Amino acid sequence: MAAAPIIVWFRQDLRLHDNPALSAAVAAGAPLIPLYVLDDETPGSWAMGGASRWWLHESLNCLDRDLRKRGSRLILARGPAAEVLRDMARETGASAIFWSRGYEPWAVRLERTIQRQLEGAGVRCRRFSGSLLFEPEDIKNGAGEPYKVFTPFYKACLAAVRLAQPHKAPASLVRVPEGVDGDQLDAWALQPRKPDWAGGIAAAWTPGEAGARERLETFLDGVLAKYKVRRDVPGVDGTSRLSPHLHFGEISPRQVWNAVVSTADAKNGRLDAAAECYLRELIWREFSYHLLFHWPHFPEKPFRPEFAKFPWASDSRLLKAWQQGRTGYPIVDAGMRELWTTGWMHNRVRMITASFLVKHLLIPWQEGERWFWDTLVDADLANNAASWQWVAGSGADAAPYFRIFNPVLQGKKFDPDGKYVKAWVPELAKLPTERLHEPWKASEKVQEQARIKIGETYPAPIVDLAAGRKRALDAYEAIKEPA
Ligand SMILES: Cc1cc2nc3c(=O)[nH]c(=O)nc-3n(C[C@H](O)[C@H](O)[C@H](O)COP(=O)(O)OP(=O)(O)OC[C@H]3O[C@@H](n4cnc5c(N)ncnc54)[C@H](O)[C@@H]3O)c2cc1C
Repeated sequence: MAAAPIIVWFRQDLRLHDNPALSAAVAAGAPLIPLYVLDDETPGSWAMGGASRWWLHESLNCLDRDLRKRGSRLILARGPAAEVLRDMARETGASAIFWSRGYEPWAVRLERTIQRQLEGAGVRCRRFSGSLLFEPEDIKNGAGEPYKVFTPFYKACLAAVRLAQPHKAPASLVRVPEGVDGDQLDAWALQPRKPDWAGGIAAAWTPGEAGARERLETFLDGVLAKYKVRRDVPGVDGTSRLSPHLHFGEISPRQVWNAVVSTADAKNGRLDAAAECYLRELIWREFSYHLLFHWPHFPEKPFRPEFAKFPWASDSRLLKAWQQGRTGYPIVDAGMRELWTTGWMHNRVRMITASFLVKHLLIPWQEGERWFWDTLVDADLANNAASWQWVAGSGADAAPYFRIFNPVLQGKKFDPDGKYVKAWVPELAKLPTERLHEPWKASEKVQEQARIKIGETYPAPIVDLAAGRKRALDAYEAIKEPA
């Protein structure tokens, strides 16, 4: 009699290399059922946004292709994950379900439910860690509590780091038992058709495990060495752009960490400043997950309670201008257009656009968080929530509220030659560089020569910077505790 199959439930670990859940299932020697569940129904879950859905379609296709090369295939099912897994286990006689754990509050609850229900029915459940370098329970301060401040968290991670070599991808897989079938990917309609707004995203990215490994190679081969000096310059390709691959688990943070360390080691026997700086960013990712896991309300509510009474001033007209990249501030508009076109925005510009929304426009950070959630290919509940709260000043170890980015000065400092603005706001391309970040100051003659007309071909600023700054500071005064 054939051994009972094991279900490998793929989640944000859409890869075959360094996938501990998959490796353990393969080692058990039973037939495997690789399964992905599209679950928009589990209470409390954040249904994926449009850009993420586009990515997911591509990534699932790649995973299926890679599984088929090894004699298996991906089974797709849609619905509340607990029910889908229960039915699949019952119908296939599966003896066990293996998966990589999730950290979102709804995912934590879901896993508990699955464990309770299925183990009660005699199906073994095994959870593996595959998406983080450190489990959120393992990094604690001297008092045995979770960290709220990044630097000590970072140091604790560095002290704890003992990374094993990544698992190899299985060379072959026992095939999926006859009769086990699922949905057709196209039937899920994850990608837009009419209109197809995803052309720019498709041109910018190669989703899937092979694409992720290629992106890492490109980064290691030249970009990493200059990371520390170029990571803040949006007009150059100075960062790894691994964020969507890491989010969907097409590559593990351990693979990235080890590759960076061995590249740096190969050069001079010790970690250079660029590698150190990059690994620190990977720890910021860990910190976001640490915060989300220990403070599950992070995506919805301010971490610092006094911000619950912050006098926001929602304004749908201003919000729309921000979303569409029509604020009249070129660096903000460039960022928002890059986001809309490619599904990604440079980190420095994310900070500038986010600060502009919550401070100059006084619009609640949750509005920005929701827009990013829908439009980013790397939309990630932990990183997005932690970063928005960081910018808004309401988060753990956040930027102080009164530090307000001036988009003109930021533009001049980080895009001094205007390369980034010219790429994404082409109507300004003919302006002299010294006017590029404040085009409304260009004389009529200069505007004419540059073939623009402020207020017509490019918007006049939607808010006065000094007045916006004052309004933001006054609003902050209203919630500050009396000294
Ligand atoms: C308002 C705002 C919203 C954001 N939303 C997201 C999001 O939804 N998803 C997301 O992955 N990142 C988010 N970030 C963090 C950061 O902007 C991106 O991770 C980064 O720009 C991705 O590009 P990269 O892969 O080239 O980064 P690199 O500079 O190459 O960094 C390597 C990796 O480290 C991690 N990382 C880098 N910076 C941060 C950070 N500040 N916080 C947490 N992890 C970080 C990412 O996984 C990234 O891929 C947000 C930042 C801001 C200011």
